[in-house]
Amino acid sequence: MESFDFNLRKFNTSNIYSYFLNHEDATKTDLASSLNLTLPTVTKNIEYLSDLGLIQVSGSRGQTGGRRAITYSLCAEAKISLGLDITKHHVSCVAVDLNGKIISFKRNWLAFEYTDSYFKEVASLLNTFVKDNNFDEKKILGVGIGIPALVQSDNRTVFYSRIMGFEENTYEMFSKYIPYDISMFNDAKASCFAEKWVNKEIQNTFYILLSNNVGGSMLINGKVYSGNNFRSAEVGHITLVPHGRQCYCGQCGCVDPYLAATNLSQDDLAGYFANLAVTTDEKILDNWDRYLDYMASTIINVRAILDCDIILGGYVGAYLEPYLDDIKRRTLKISTFDSDADFIKLCSYKHESIAAGAALHYISQFIKTI
Ligand SMILES: [Zn+2]
Repeated sequence: MESFDFNLRKFNTSNIYSYFLNHEDATKTDLASSLNLTLPTVTKNIEYLSDLGLIQVSGSRGQTGGRRAITYSLCAEAKISLGLDITKHHVSCVAVDLNGKIISFKRNWLAFEYTDSYFKEVASLLNTFVKDNNFDEKKILGVGIGIPALVQSDNRTVFYSRIMGFEENTYEMFSKYIPYDISMFNDAKASCFAEKWVNKEIQNTFYILLSNNVGGSMLINGKVYSGNNFRSAEVGHITLVPHGRQCYCGQCGCVDPYLAATNLSQDDLAGYFANLAVTTDEKILDNWDRYLDYMASTIINVRAILDCDIILGGYVGAYLEPYLDDIKRRTLKISTFDSDADFIKLCSYKHESIAAGAALHYISQFIKTI
């Protein structure tokens, strides 16, 4: 009986807290009627959550002359989580609040090398980021690290890293200098997690990460499908052109060497797309034309197997809005079954989705404890 009471109490608290996560503010009456709870239960929980510093009085509501009801809202920055996106040439730092919103980010140029001094420098960049933003260290839940490598479900063990050459003790190297709890994630999986955060209704979906490498993440009934060996959704290594371009994986003709963002620009995609919109340079237009055809072929391969929505994300995905109709047209032209291409979507989380997705891991874990 006691355990039943405890579970019921926790269930109510967690429901009330979730309500604040999804609404700007609420009065006690709002909570009682929306969640079907009694006012004393709501009052007790409001006190409890206020004592924890998780919600606060935000104002009052009501007609002039009548009794005004106090409104409460989330203390979004009661806890924060940090995220890193580690690539060959840069390290991005982000901080996200309990709403999952990015409250600060910084992109730093730093050439990757698997040395002690590199990991020390990454930690130093992160510490500077924390100091510059005056983040209270006690509020930091942890650091999620997105890397272009495959990571076991323990979020610690790297088992495939041809792009950068992370070694088995990567976790130890990061934790040697970073003074917070850390977890590592495959970049595409982290990015997809951020996408799912803003689009909670996503069910069957394949997320294609179009960044300096091409990755993917597959959601079935809203849950990540990891495969038998945590190697699912590796769309970057579908053979697109037999005997084609050399892929970093050792094979030839994979999707990656055709759709990696570096096919468009080495380090300035914003500049590339600004120029693409106005250029008449045939070489650039021709390269873009082929890039879109390769993209359409990749999309239709995934669609044929999974029959699900496909989200175009990553660095390139953030710039595709003006080209979405063209992408749909090209895809439809080579589709066997589809009569429209509305299953192709663009990512909602446009910037720093890898670092943010990695950081959101800690936010999501924390919310589950309430
Ligand atoms: Zn490959």
